[in-house]
Amino acid sequence: MEGKSGKLDSKERRFRVYACTLGLGAAAAVAWQIYEARDLLREEILPVTVFATFIGFAWYFSFSIFPRASLSISLDMAYLMTALCVLPAPLPLAVAFGGAGLGCHLRARDAKVRQNPFFIVLCLNTGGLVMTALAGQWLSLLMASHWQFRVLTWWTALVVAALFVTYNLTNLAVMSVAVVLRGEPLLGYLVHYLRYIPSLEVFTIPLCLGLALLYAGSGIWGFVPLATTILLASGLLKKLNQARTELSDANDQLQHRSRELRILNTIGQEITKSLQPERVFMQVCQNMQRILDAPFVFLSLDHRGPHDNYIEYVARNGEVLPRPERHLGQGFTSWMLEERRPLVVSDIGVDRDSLPCSPVILDPSVHSILAAPLTVNKETIGLLCVESPRVGVYGVDQASVFTTIAQQAAVAIENARNYQMATVDQLTQLHLRDFFFRKLSEEQVRARRYGSTFAVLMLDLDSFKEINDRMGHLAGDRFLQRVGEVIKETMRAADVPCRYGGEEFCVLLPETDLEGATTIAERIRKRVARLEVRVGEDVVHTTISVGIACYPADFPGSLQGLLEKADQALYSAKQAGRDRVVASSARPSPARRSR
Ligand code: GH3
Ligand code: MG
Ligand code: MG
Repeated sequence: MEGKSGKLDSKERRFRVYACTLGLGAAAAVAWQIYEARDLLREEILPVTVFATFIGFAWYFSFSIFPRASLSISLDMAYLMTALCVLPAPLPLAVAFGGAGLGCHLRARDAKVRQNPFFIVLCLNTGGLVMTALAGQWLSLLMASHWQFRVLTWWTALVVAALFVTYNLTNLAVMSVAVVLRGEPLLGYLVHYLRYIPSLEVFTIPLCLGLALLYAGSGIWGFVPLATTILLASGLLKKLNQARTELSDANDQLQHRSRELRILNTIGQEITKSLQPERVFMQVCQNMQRILDAPFVFLSLDHRGPHDNYIEYVARNGEVLPRPERHLGQGFTSWMLEERRPLVVSDIGVDRDSLPCSPVILDPSVHSILAAPLTVNKETIGLLCVESPRVGVYGVDQASVFTTIAQQAAVAIENARNYQMATVDQLTQLHLRDFFFRKLSEEQVRARRYGSTFAVLMLDLDSFKEINDRMGHLAGDRFLQRVGEVIKETMRAADVPCRYGGEEFCVLLPETDLEGATTIAERIRKRVARLEVRVGEDVVHTTISVGIACYPADFPGSLQGLLEKADQALYSAKQAGRDRVVASSARPSPARRSR
């Protein structure tokens, strides 16, 4: 309603003008009518004061049937209807005015959160109650001139029921205008009001009849004992209701906490299953959505390479995106690595200048940011950051949950990175030979059980020593790296390409016979033969020779023997002039130049 600059929007301004007009209009009407009947007021000042006091306290003791529902029931209607039945006009107006004023004052002292200024609330409520009293007074006058309640008849019961309807309709009309002016949905308000309020408050009709009868019989002192008893009962209900709301809030908090713990536990289990940092990141993003508002996620990891750079992952709505082109936050990861503490930003648009660093902003719509360091064994390896277009979504609770997730993610990522270091060659990004042997023996067990075949390729770059000697080791390394990429790109998902050692590679091809293996080997050979890698002024280029052995055809009893067969075939390829593919069980084919 109220912007940061303190300005009101036009709807709120209209609403406040309406509330003031209603309140001041009511005050003027009451003042004028009461002035005209000042002698009557002087005579009846005691009942008027007693009725107004009961109405004020009835507002204060309004209670709710449903915990946390916005439906509170107040007995003011019973007291005002009684006043309309037993007091001559215009005294009920004074009762309504005084009662509403006292009620607003008592409620304001009790209210924890004040949405509107007191004067506006006072005007709206006093105006509303005086309007209902006016409507009730007109109805009473309409139904019988200077009508007063003496005995209980069908006619008096009917008048009280009509007062009940009039009260509700007038109140509904007054409040509906306020709802419309504030730009809130009218239909929702009407449905809510008509569905609950009249039925919940219908008990005020017999209550009013009882109170009016007592007043008619014994005057104000006949009315007070029952009215007080009812008021005390409603005060008790209010207390009970408060206790019930507190209990159910505590229960909700407990359930929320237990759900949070369950989800944290699941996240921990899920993310530690993955052994690739990218998959860990994906799992974190997908699971985190269940517990935090996290449409944008950013992970930055210290690369630990010779250069001071970071590996970054970005996700939107649980989906990992290719690394987008964007401006890096100035030293965001470096700041986090040094400071090792979470960063909470409620609204980047407002807080930007007061932040200790420039966070990475993943989308122009982002307002809230929450970042935490990824720490394992006291070493900070990077940062995890979530962002949301909503303002102020991350508080202390979210930061605490998020820090726990970041700790779990850090351990899972470190595990995945260690696993990768132990199984993947860092130059070519191909698996290491131990991993290859493990897969080879698993494949042999499977092939034996299902009677299937598999093939092994042994590859060695031709005359590579010469390249190193001529262009240097760095040029050789660069070429080796590209050959690793070529081999990977030529493989199917199930194939296992490895760096066997130096400039030698081996590939396990599951479910592949000699013909299939030859096709793949030829494809690699041709692509390597076409490969030219520019390093400074030089262009590195060489060919590759490949030896093939197949299971079970070339299996002499041990896997080591199978590898030796592939190695012998490779040797034959070298002997036959290099840049060719030779199968263990076949003769070397003449060199086929691809260029
Ligand atoms: P051939 O055609 O007979 O295979 O000749 P070659 O020169 O390639 O001989 P060999 O296969 O024995 O090659 C070994 C050479 O590979 C030795 C070394 O200079 C080079 N080499 C091995 N590992 C690496 C590496 O990691 N980086 C670089 N740059 N060179 C390597
Ligand atoms: Mg070689
Ligand atoms: Mg070699």
